[in-house]
Amino acid sequence: MEALVEAPVKKENKINERIPETGMPRIVIIGGGFAGIELVRKLSKENVQIVMIDRRNHHTFIPLLYQVATAGLSPGDISSPLREFLQDSKHFHFRMARVKQIHADKKSVETSLGFLKYDTLVIASGATTNFFGNKEIEKKAMKLRVMSDAIELRTRLIENFEEALQLYEDEQDELEKHMNVVIVGAGPTGVELAGAIGELRSHVLPKDYPELDFSQMHIHLIEGLDRVLPPMSKKAGKKAASYLKHFGVNVELGKLVERYEDGVAYLSDGSTIKTRCLIWAAGVKGNVIDGLREGAVDKGRILVDEYNRVKNHEYVYAIGDVCLQTDKKYPKGLPQLAPVAMQQAQNLGDNIIRLHNNKDFKPFKYVDKGTMATVGRNRAVVDAPGITFGGFLGWFVWMFVHLFSIIGIRRKVLVFSNWMWNYITYNRGNRLIINKDLDDM
Ligand SMILES: Cc1cc2nc3c(=O)[nH]c(=O)nc-3n(C[C@H](O)[C@H](O)[C@H](O)COP(=O)(O)OP(=O)(O)OC[C@H]3O[C@@H](n4cnc5c(N)ncnc54)[C@H](O)[C@@H]3O)c2cc1C
Repeated sequence: MEALVEAPVKKENKINERIPETGMPRIVIIGGGFAGIELVRKLSKENVQIVMIDRRNHHTFIPLLYQVATAGLSPGDISSPLREFLQDSKHFHFRMARVKQIHADKKSVETSLGFLKYDTLVIASGATTNFFGNKEIEKKAMKLRVMSDAIELRTRLIENFEEALQLYEDEQDELEKHMNVVIVGAGPTGVELAGAIGELRSHVLPKDYPELDFSQMHIHLIEGLDRVLPPMSKKAGKKAASYLKHFGVNVELGKLVERYEDGVAYLSDGSTIKTRCLIWAAGVKGNVIDGLREGAVDKGRILVDEYNRVKNHEYVYAIGDVCLQTDKKYPKGLPQLAPVAMQQAQNLGDNIIRLHNNKDFKPFKYVDKGTMATVGRNRAVVDAPGITFGGFLGWFVWMFVHLFSIIGIRRKVLVFSNWMWNYITYNRGNRLIINKDLDDM
C-alpha cells in the first residue's frame, strides 16, 4: 500500500532524485546550443554541479544547416552529441528533456521528466522561427532552425523533382509548383539558401533529372525591406544582390508574402507565385519558457540587464538568442548571433566564478568581430570592423572562420573534405530523400 501512495510523488521528482545532491551549488542550464555549451566549458573545472537540460541530445552548428538542406553536408558533419564533448567536465549531468515551466518562487524547473531544483538557473533556450502570427503560413511553409527542418527541406526540394517527372505536358500549373522555390526573407539565411539552391540548379539537378527543363525552375527571394542582407552594411547588401543575380535568383524587394494556399504564394503587390516549396526565413523569436514573472519578457525575448540577470528575478540569468540585452550601440537589443551568445556565456561564467570568490560582477560588453554571409561558390560578403569585402577572399575567410568554429577535429575534417569534394566535382553527394511516409508506399 505504502509503495502505491509514494510512487506518483517519486515519479514527479524523478529527475531531481536521480541527480545526487553534492552540497555544491547546482547550476541548471536550459539549452545545449552555443551559449549553453560555452558556459559549461567555462565552469567545467569549478566546484559547482552543472545540470544541462536540452530536448535534443545533440548540439547543432546552425550556421551550416543550410548546407544540409541543400545536400552539401550530412547531419552528422555538423552535429555533436552533447554527452560526447562535455565528458571532461567535472560534476556535469545531462538530461534529455523539455523544460515546460519555471517556478522561480520555489527555485525549481518543471521538465518532461519531473521537477528539478536549482540554486542558479541559466536560460539558454535560443530562438525559433517567427511567423508573426500567420498560422496558415506556419502550417504549410518550410523553415530552417533545427536539423529536422533541414532534412525535411532537403526531402521536399528533391521529392518535388521526382514527382515532376510524372506530370503530363498539360499539367503546367503543377509543373510550375514543383519546380519553383520561394524564399521569404533576404537576411543571411535566405541569401545563403538562395545561393546554394541556385548552384544546385546550375550544376547538379540537370544531371540528375535530364528529362526536366531547368530553365523552368525559378528561385524567388522575397524581402519586405528595400535591400538584401538588412542586418549587414549597404555595401555588403549590394554585393550580395549582384552575386544572387549571377546565380539566377530573382530578388524581389519591398514585397511581403501575405498568404500561401494550395501551392500559391500571394504577395503584397498583388502578384502570385506557384510553388510547393515556400521557405520562411523572415524572422525569429525567443524560445521563452513559461512561468517567468511579469515584466520579464518583451518582444518575444527575456529582458536582462548588463550582467544577464533576468528582470524581476533573483538567481535567474538568460544568455544567447533568447535574451534581450541592450547597450549604447544596440538600443533595440544585441543581434541574435552565435558570437554574442558565446561571449555572454563567457562573461556569465566569469561572474559566477567571481561571485564564489566574493568579487563584484563585471558587466557584459559585446566585441563585434564582424559578420559574414556566403552566396554560393567563390562568393561571400564580409563586414569586418572598418572594412567590407567580398568575392573569393570573402568566401575563403568565410570558409576558414566556419571550419575553425565547428566542434571537434573529426567534424572539421569531414566538413573540409566534403567542401573540397563538392568544389572539385561540382557535386552534392547528400541528395537523400528521408521521409518515413515512403516506407508504407
Ligand atoms: C539558419 C540559420 C543560420 C544562422 N547563421 C548564423 C551565422 O552564420 N553566424 C552567426 O553568428 N549566427 C548565425 N545564426 C544564429 C545562431 O545560430 C544563433 O545566434 C545561436 O544559435 C544562438 O545560440 P543559443 O545558444 O542562444 O541558441 P541555440 O543554439 O538555438 O540553442 C538553444 C538550445 O536550447 C534547446 N531548447 C530550447 N527550448 C528548450 C526547452 N524548453 N527545453 C529544453 N531545451 C530547449 C534547443 O534544443 C537548443 O539546443 C543562424 C541561425 C539560423 C537559424
